[in-house]
This record gives sequence, C-alpha cells and structure tokens, in this order.
Amino acid sequence: MEAMGAQAMRRHNAALVMELIARDAPVSRVELAQRTGLTKATVSSLVTELTGAELVRDLGPEPGRVPGRPAGRLVLDPYGPVALGLQFGAGHIAGVILDLSGRPLARQIRRFDVAGAGAEEGVRAARPVLRRLFDEATTAGRLVAGVGVAIGGTVRSGLVSALPLGWREVDARALVAGELRALDLHGLDVVVAGEVACAALAEYQAGAARDWLYLGGEEVIGLAPLDPAVTLAGDLGHVPVRRRGDACPCGGRGCLDLYAGRAAMASAAGVADPGTARLLGGAEPLAERARRGDPAAVRALDRAGEALAEALVSVRALLDPETIVLGGRLAAFGADFRRRVVERLAPGLTVRASKLGPDAALRGAAGHVIARVIADPLTWIEG
Ligand SMILES: [Zn+2]
Repeated sequence: MEAMGAQAMRRHNAALVMELIARDAPVSRVELAQRTGLTKATVSSLVTELTGAELVRDLGPEPGRVPGRPAGRLVLDPYGPVALGLQFGAGHIAGVILDLSGRPLARQIRRFDVAGAGAEEGVRAARPVLRRLFDEATTAGRLVAGVGVAIGGTVRSGLVSALPLGWREVDARALVAGELRALDLHGLDVVVAGEVACAALAEYQAGAARDWLYLGGEEVIGLAPLDPAVTLAGDLGHVPVRRRGDACPCGGRGCLDLYAGRAAMASAAGVADPGTARLLGGAEPLAERARRGDPAAVRALDRAGEALAEALVSVRALLDPETIVLGGRLAAFGADFRRRVVERLAPGLTVRASKLGPDAALRGAAGHVIARVIADPLTWIEG
C-alpha cells in the first residue's frame, strides 16, 4: 500500500514539475521547488528522470551570468518526442509535426475531396500524409508520442459528426488507427477532437487565459472554453439567429452558419470558397475585397457580423464570458469586423483576435498529444 502511495505521489509530482516547465520555461530547479512546494532534492530527482527521457532539457546557466551558483535553465526538450497533428477539411487533409514546446517541424497538405469521398475513403486518403510525416520524424531520430486529429465538426461519445464533410457518427479514431496499422505503426495514441476545440487548445498553449472563451473555426463556427480541463463544444453555427430564416442542411432554420459560415459568405459576396487556399496562404479573399470597397463583399461581412452579434447575445446570456477570443476564418476579417460586432452588443464584452493563423486547429490536434505527455510524463517514460 505504502509503495503504491509513493508511486502515485511521484507520478503526480512529475506532472506538476512538467506543467510548470511547460508554462514558465526557462525555469531553474530552485524556482520549481519554490513554485511546487516540493523539496529541492525531490525536484532534482524528478528533473533527472525527465531529462534522461528527453522530455526536459537543461540549457545550462544563462550566458554572461556573473559566476556564483549559476542555475541551469530548464525547458521542454526541443529534441525530445514529437506529436503528429492531422486535419480533415472538406477539400484537404493537412498534417504537422510539433515538438514538445509546440514548434512546427514539418508540414504536409494534400488536396482531396474528403466531402465527396465518404468517411472511410477520406481517412484512407490520409495515408500518404501520415507516411511522409512519420518518415520525417524517423529520419530526424524522433519518437512519435501520438497522433491528434482535428475534424470540422463535433465529437460526441467518441463519434464524429461533421456536416461540411458529410460525416455522421463516424468512429474516426478507429479509422485513423487502422491507417496507422496499415503503415506498420502500432500502439500509438490517437486523439480525435473537433477543429474548434483543437484551435482553442492551441490558443491556450500559446498563452491565452484560462477563463476566456474561444469562438472560431474554418469549416464550422464553434465555441470552446480555453480551459483544457473544461469539456464543452458548442456548435454555434447551428444556433438559430433568424426565426423565419432559410432551411439549413442540419434540419434547423435560420442558423448562424447560413449568414456567417464560409460557404454562405463566399456565395453572398460572389467569390470562390477559399477552402484549402486559406490554410496554405492565410489570406481571406472576402476580407481583401471588402477592404477595397467591393459592395457585395461589404454587404456579406455586414450580414455576417449582424448574425454573429445575434448569436453572441445567447452566448452571453448562457455563459456570461468577459473575454472572447475570435479565431479562425472570422478573425481574418480584421479589427473593423470585430468592432462592428461588438458595437451591436451591450457593453462589457471584450472581443480580441486570435494570436494564431489558419493552422491553429492543426496545431491544436497535435497539441492534444503534447498535453497528454505533459499531464502524465511518467506513463510516457514507462510506455
Ligand atoms: Zn443549421
């Protein structure tokens, strides 16, 4: 019993130390002891174990520091294990390799009609993307900690429903695991999440505050808390904003997505749906047209802003957030668009722009894998 207790305590303390290094790096052993309340001996022993497993790296004392007792600076090991992120959009499959601190090391993108292919064929089309990413990781001598998957939809009880992809209650985790087996990759962790939840995690890992709310998405419009401990995935795109609005493919009427969704806005402004192009270049053609004063683009943005403000009235009534981070495609419409949305609302809500670009969901997919390693480093070491 006693031994079990000590083991569980060590596991807990290792997670505590790892989380502090992730958040505060670079940080010294003395600072870790102060911030965790653990003894210096315990911290040192845990750090030795974490550096031995290449999860943490000691950069040594700060260069140019006055001699005395120079403290080593600890960071998450940039040469340690990596996480793979995979994203399924309606017209593409994207992949990324991230190191433990969230830095992208390699990217892959494949244009593919995922929406037209059906779930099984769509996931099978990810095989060359996965193969190339694994080849890159292996060539660089990296261990892969797992694969995170972002999908433009929602995940309930492990099953994915994604209107833009035409997926209904798909066991995407099993399908991706099948692709990994086909590549002779066994025993890897696969995590599947909606693209908005992934983007929110990426935003949090990039430093956003825990009590903010994230509103974004590329394929969909969704709401997610920035606190990774809270699981809530709001399908905001299908909140009705017009009582007598048009019929929506979801079965509802007057949904936000019919006014502020990607396809709806592109069609209202008479431009091509940017789809994959935005992931590649980050540009939002509609925003560019509106800046040049194109009347159809300005009208489409106005209509979307009005509908978004309408949806935010309900969000505030339910969740009462002080700050919302606007991300994804909606953030690409710029500060003017944000200001016009806020102006339609009662005072007291701050809407700020995301720090991340169109690859936020892709990064957050891999971020889920990193978050698991950080939350339980000893299990990773023992595995
Ligand atoms: Zn709908």
